[in-house]
Amino acid sequence: MVKPNSEFNSKSVKCDFMGCYKCCIETEMILTDDDLNRIENLGYDKNEFCLDTKETDGYWQLRNKKSILGNTCYFLSNHGKCTIYENRPQGCQIYPLIYDFEFEKPVIDLDCREAVYFNKQEYSQSQIITLEKLISNLFR
Ligand code: SF4
Ligand code: SF4
Repeated sequence: MVKPNSEFNSKSVKCDFMGCYKCCIETEMILTDDDLNRIENLGYDKNEFCLDTKETDGYWQLRNKKSILGNTCYFLSNHGKCTIYENRPQGCQIYPLIYDFEFEKPVIDLDCREAVYFNKQEYSQSQIITLEKLISNLFR
C-alpha cells in the first residue's frame, strides 16, 4: 500500500539492497527528455542506449544487451552495477514505485525482488508528485 504524507521524505526511492540488479534485467524503462539529455551529455548516443522509437510507439526506452548476467540494461556492468548511477533515468530513481494505469494510482512493482519490504514503507507526497510528473512527462 502506498501512503502519502509520511516522514519518508527522500525524492527518490532509495534501494539499498546491494548485489541485486533484478530490475536491470530485461528492463522496459522509458525515458523522459531530461533523461535523454542528461545521459547524452555523458557522451552516450541515444540511438545506441535506446530502442528504435518505431518499436516502442514513439517512446524512448532503454535497450537491453546480451551480457554474462543475461539480457541486461545497456548500462549494467558485468558486475551488476549501474554505470550511470548518478544520472540514471528518473524511472530508475523512483523504482520500485510505479504507476498502475488500471487503478490510476502509484503502487510497488511486485516484480521487485524486495517488493514485500518496499510495500511496508510509506511514501511521501513529494515522491508521489515526482512519479506523477514523470508519468505526465512521458505521455506529453
Ligand atoms: S539505467 Fe541503471 S538503474 Fe536503470 S535499468 Fe539501467 S542499469 Fe538499471
Ligand atoms: S529489484 Fe528491487 S530490490 Fe532489486 S535492485 Fe531493483 S529495486 Fe532494488
